[in-house]
Amino acid sequence: QFITLEGGEGVGKSTQLRLLRDALQSQGYRVLATREPGGSPGAEDLRQLLLFGQNPLSLRAEILTHFAARFDHVDQVIRPALADGQIVLCDRFTDSTMAYQGYGRAEGDPAILALIGELQKQLGLMPDMTFLLEAPREVTRQRLAVRGVPTDRYEQADEGFHARIAAGFKQIARQNPERLHCIATANHSQEAVNSLIMKEILSRLSNV
Ligand code: C5P
Repeated sequence: QFITLEGGEGVGKSTQLRLLRDALQSQGYRVLATREPGGSPGAEDLRQLLLFGQNPLSLRAEILTHFAARFDHVDQVIRPALADGQIVLCDRFTDSTMAYQGYGRAEGDPAILALIGELQKQLGLMPDMTFLLEAPREVTRQRLAVRGVPTDRYEQADEGFHARIAAGFKQIARQNPERLHCIATANHSQEAVNSLIMKEILSRLSNV
């Protein structure tokens, strides 16, 4: 099973990934927890370039670089783990490219959405389940301020960009109701969110 967590900055993806990994492992499942951009040595190199590179890439070059990293991650890490029978948990995957580059940077330009769709098809691997974590921007902005880590180029982007990303994720969820599960995290404890997600995963695992 290939399970991804998606959402904007500060919605709690990495915390949930950790809790999920621990909860599944304590039930005896073998789990690989990974993240994007990155997740394999070569893809981590590309992550540095994407997030902290000195020179901004053109939009299409940025999309191809995200996918170059993703192909490496899929070929070298994700597919082998799935073939070995592990559950793979990934912090971000192609839905992030659709949301950030497609709906955020390209503002939904159909040609760009089609390019991302085509690369996704070539990749040949989609998650079995995706959890879209959501929280109002005021909440996530506060969380990021508390976190106080150096911001990468996307976290510095303007509010319109973040709003388009949130709307983009919503759109992706509407188009993939079977795969995406939307979870509002602002008014729930981390533990409550974790048990919600675990419930969905366990019910699916018992059916496969
Ligand atoms: O998951 P995390 O928030 O650490 O993501 C790292 C950064 O990469 C974020 O700033 C995110 O906005 C950005 N990103 C992106 N396009 C993607 C995936 C991630 O801009 N396709």
